Amino acid sequence: MAVITLTQSYEIKALLDLANQCATDETLSFSIYPISTGQNWGYGTSQPTGLSKNIILVVLAKLADIKHFDSELGLVTIEPGITQQQLSDYLQLNNHDYMVPATGAGPDCSILANTLERGYGVTPYTDHFSTVTSIQGYWANGRPYQSAINELDTSDDKFVDKTLKWSLGPYLEALFTQSNLGIVSQMTIRLAKKKADFTSFFIQMQDETLLEKAVPLIRQVLQDYEGIVGSINLMDQRRLLSMFAKHPKGNEADQVMDNHEIKRLAKESQAPSWTIVGSIYGSKGVVGVVQKEIDVIFKQLPCKRVYSNSLTIILTNKIINNLPDWSLIKSRL
Ligand SMILES: Cc1cc2nc3c(=O)[nH]c(=O)nc-3n(C[C@H](O)[C@H](O)[C@H](O)COP(=O)(O)OP(=O)(O)OC[C@H]3O[C@@H](n4cnc5c(N)ncnc54)[C@H](O)[C@@H]3O)c2cc1C
Repeated sequence: MAVITLTQSYEIKALLDLANQCATDETLSFSIYPISTGQNWGYGTSQPTGLSKNIILVVLAKLADIKHFDSELGLVTIEPGITQQQLSDYLQLNNHDYMVPATGAGPDCSILANTLERGYGVTPYTDHFSTVTSIQGYWANGRPYQSAINELDTSDDKFVDKTLKWSLGPYLEALFTQSNLGIVSQMTIRLAKKKADFTSFFIQMQDETLLEKAVPLIRQVLQDYEGIVGSINLMDQRRLLSMFAKHPKGNEADQVMDNHEIKRLAKESQAPSWTIVGSIYGSKGVVGVVQKEIDVIFKQLPCKRVYSNSLTIILTNKIINNLPDWSLIKSRL
């Protein structure tokens, strides 16, 4: 296997053309596996899934431009390498009141690749592919793809194409998702506007047999507060530990942790058996009322309920933010 890092988007076409020219010669033929940031953890990291012999892993992380931003509509056009952190920095720097479609996979993951994976998050637009309004890229035969509307659109910055998700005729853009039928060079997505207020809830249950009772309550919250509570993540210990605990075998680890290791780590870090995480978005009044009602719903279970707007969390954050950098480095070692 070889790895090629591209630095210009026109190189995508050049590489695909080369692959097609070599395809008929058995000694020269190779297949292409594109990744953006290659952090598809849990689904196979950046390892190609194909069985063919000559695989070229094409890394698109260096194509990291924000091509366009419409501050009135929250439409952003990004290249494959733009990460959650980079989009967050861009929005903050320019005082744009919009949210990053964040996932639990972490700040260094590509927004575009997660969207092509049909990823989800707990911000108000939970289904990330549903926010796509326009895609540009290349099919495997090297032919460029842009929507029919894009070709007809004579407006500045292809504004009509960027706003009209379904374009004209058969909807082809879904073919780029979870398929490897082509390579996406840029994508426009719609960001959710920041709400006046927000709080996250963390419901922690020690008793692992409570799952059956928790699921109907989660469903109730999602149905009763649709549009106010984005989505809810229900995580077991293994999922929780994968986010913050170090694998006991360090970077050498190439295997899933066994149950014994999970139990030990969970005990050490006091990880609950089940954790329910969600966020409430709205005006200050709405968030206050919904938070109280959700608290009553989950009170039916023996659980610990923590809210990110609670005084304890706010004070702890303040203390952590004011600690000298060295003390945090020391505590991570
Ligand atoms: C602890 C943990 C928490 C997670 N939380 C979430 C979560 O909350 N939500 C969620 O959705 N996922 C989650 N994941 C799964 C996964 O890590 C993310 O989906 C992550 O965003 C994918 O990695 P990436 O963005 O680097 O994509 P990549 O690895 O770069 O790509 C993902 C896939 O898309 C294809 N691809 C990438 N770029 C292109 C392109 N330009 N053109 C064509 N095809 C392309 C690749 O071939 C690959 O198959 C989690 C995983 C773990 C371990």
